[in-house]
Parts: sequence; structure tokens; C-alpha cells
Amino acid sequence: MTELETFKQEVAAWLQENCPASMRRPIVSEEMVWGSSKLEFISEDQKLWFERMRDRGWFAPSWPKEYGGGGLSPKEARILETEMARLGCRQPQYNLGVWMLGPVLVEVGTHEQKLEHLVPMMRGKQRWCQGFSEPNAGSDLASLKTSAKRVTDEQGEAYIVNGGKIWTSDGDKGDWMYALVRTDSGAKKQEGISFILIDMKSPGVTVKPIELISGKSSFCQVFFDDVRVPVRQLVGKEGEGWALAKKLLQHERAAMSKFTEGGAPSHDAVKSALPYIVDEQGQVNDAVLRDKLASVLMDSQAFGLTHRRVTEKALARQDVSGPSSIMKLVQTEQEVSKYELLEQAMGLRGLGWEGDDFSADELEVCRAWLRSKSYTIAGGSSEVQLNIIAKRVLELP
Ligand SMILES: Cc1cc2nc3c(=O)[nH]c(=O)nc-3n(C[C@H](O)[C@H](O)[C@H](O)COP(=O)(O)OP(=O)(O)OC[C@H]3O[C@@H](n4cnc5c(N)ncnc54)[C@H](O)[C@@H]3O)c2cc1C
Repeated sequence: MTELETFKQEVAAWLQENCPASMRRPIVSEEMVWGSSKLEFISEDQKLWFERMRDRGWFAPSWPKEYGGGGLSPKEARILETEMARLGCRQPQYNLGVWMLGPVLVEVGTHEQKLEHLVPMMRGKQRWCQGFSEPNAGSDLASLKTSAKRVTDEQGEAYIVNGGKIWTSDGDKGDWMYALVRTDSGAKKQEGISFILIDMKSPGVTVKPIELISGKSSFCQVFFDDVRVPVRQLVGKEGEGWALAKKLLQHERAAMSKFTEGGAPSHDAVKSALPYIVDEQGQVNDAVLRDKLASVLMDSQAFGLTHRRVTEKALARQDVSGPSSIMKLVQTEQEVSKYELLEQAMGLRGLGWEGDDFSADELEVCRAWLRSKSYTIAGGSSEVQLNIIAKRVLELP
């Protein structure tokens, strides 16, 4: 038996023994454990699973052990990921820091930054939010205006940040924000941008939740008034923020393209649709629905296989910036198609927002259907992904 085969057996045995049965059910948003200074668990199993994975460094299996990671090789990390998916194990911790900022810090952060930020992420103690979008800088992100002026005074060297961010997911719960700021307003748009880390408790940071039509929202608007950020919180070099943001977005898009692999809630198309469309003989007589269901299944199967291929490339440290846009686009659009189909299959039963007239599954499908549309915008809209694919992958003029 090769070393990797032995590793696979050990991992499978460990997961079987240590992942409680309740942590192998599909995740729902209310049961996600977000790493945070205000860490909360709603069950003993959740806590156990979190602590066991944390203690092995498996929140980020391939990060160096020195910074709290698992120190696994890319192939071992892939085995762990595959075994977790096979056994239906939930992600033990959700954290934008681990998915997006972490890989960038591992690559370009200073030793001090890694100790200050990666280690708490690996203990599940820091919640991160993303400060990229501004009211006039969404798809055209490079137009961002939040300024960071470098000063040296009796307290040392720092940036004084002024401006604001919008659509910041869970900004009100964030301990820290990774943000893009303009450090040089005279330079070309992309060249004057830097990437900094802002402690959300800093004086001058104001966070206002944005209420949506549903009455709830995880979106916030964040305002900065003379916020002091020590220069040691600059990631990479000054003016290098655009290149780092592109790296980070690649990780964001890769994370979003994994949504059906256990990362976020998603419904099984067949299981959810069949009760509404089969006749007494268990047949789907509506040929159009049958055809659509078959397409959704084939697309999902093809996506899963392509996703595995791209993951292997990423683990082998090959450039996947183009594929990550393709995967993000395809995955999020496929999710929309799947939920459109479920809505069609369920008819009025799929349109319940709340109340006892609908089953829990029906209510969840309706919300997931509406939510699926937002993922085609978050992390760069589908149209923007098409532009990136046209330019970078197809090299169109
Ligand atoms: C669920 C969700 C979570 C989010 N979380 C965060 C977060 O945590 N932090 C953060 O910084 N941002 C976040 N965002 C914001 C997100 O990044 C922006 O909404 C997105 O980049 C689009 O920007 P915009 O909303 O300003 O739309 P606009 O850029 O104004 O675009 C409007 C429409 O025009 C289209 N369009 C724009 N430019 C082009 C073009 N060149 N070619 C073709 N079509 C174009 C777009 O596709 C879109 O349909 C989140 C968004 C969502 C939906």
C-alpha cells in the first residue's frame, strides 16, 4: 500500500470516529459555526467537531503547522477534502479569513502578520469581513475612492483611512476587515490601490446594517472617519493591492464554486422535485420537466468532474485564475437553473415565505431560490466573469 493510500484509510477512520452523526447532515445556514471573537455553538456535537478539527489544524489542512495549519501536502489535503465530502462531514468552521485572506497571507504576508492573523483564524477566534465594494465601485472595483494617507507621528507610522464600503457581508459581526484603499490618487486607477487589514474596533469605524425588503440583512455599510491603521497592517507593498485583490478574488470564486461540495446549503434536485412531479406509478409524465431535470443532473455531474480537475491543478500550484472565473460563473448559474426548475416543479408550494401552510423544506427551497440569484452577483457578477473569461481565457481583443 502506498503512503497516500495508508493516509486515506487513516483519515477515513478518524473522520468516522470523530465526526458526530449530526455533523454529517447537510448544513443549513442557521447551523454554520462562524469563527469569531464571539464564537457560539448551538449543540455539543458542533463544539466537539469544531474542537477536534481545530486541534488537528484541519481548518486549513495545507497551511504550515507553525501558523496553526495541518501541514498536509496538497495531495493529502485533497484526500481529506474528498473523504469529508464522501462521508458528508460539514465544514467545522466558516470564515472568510480562512477561505480568502488566509491563502493570500500564507503567500505574501510577513511572519508577524501570519502570527497575528493566521493563528487566531486557525483557533476560530477572528471573524473577517471583506471591504472591497463602494457605492460607485462594484464591478468597476478599481474606481474605489476610500483613501489611506500615510503619516508619521509620535504614535509611529500609520495610514489614516477615510471613506466607506458597502454591501459588506456581516460587517457588523466582523472583528477585522481586509480592505482595498487608495494610497495614491495621482497614479493610474489600479496602481494607486493598497491592501490593508483594519481592526473593526478602531476609533472612527461605524457600521450600519442595510435593511432589505425581507426585513433582514447580512449586508452593512461601513464608514471610516480618520481611522488609524498601523503600517504593519499593510499586506504586500504599497500600490500592490490590485494584484493581491485579484489573487484573493480567485480564492473567493473558488470557494463559491464549491458550494455543492458541502460548503453551503444546496438541495438535491431529484429528491426535492420528485414528490411534486411523479404520478401514482412513480413516473414523471411531464416530458418538459423530465428533460429539464435530466439537464440539471448532467450539468451538475459535469461540473463536479471539472471542479475536481481544476482543484487538482490548483493543488499542483498551477494558475487557475481563468478557470476559477469559469467555475464561479457555471456553478452559480447552474444553481439558479436548478432552483428555477424546483420552483416550476413545486408550483405554488414553492412560493411560501413563512407560515404553517408550507413544509420546512418548501420554505427553505423558496429562500434558497431567491438566495441563489444573489450568488450570481457576489464575488463579481456573471457578466463580469464573462468579461474576464473573454479577455484572460479566450484572449479575445
Ligand atoms: C450576496 C452578496 C454578498 C456580497 N458581499 C460583499 C462583501 O462582503 N464585501 C464587498 O466588498 N462586496 C460584497 N458584495 C458586493 C458585490 O461584490 C457587488 O455587488 C458586485 O461586485 C457588483 O457590483 P454592484 O452591486 O456595484 O453592481 P454594478 O457594478 O453597478 O453592476 C450593475 C449591473 O451591471 C452589470 N455590469 C457592470 N459592469 C459591466 C460590464 N463591464 N460589462 C457587462 N455588465 C456589466 C453587472 O453585471 C450588473 O448586472 C456582495 C454582493 C452580494 C450580492
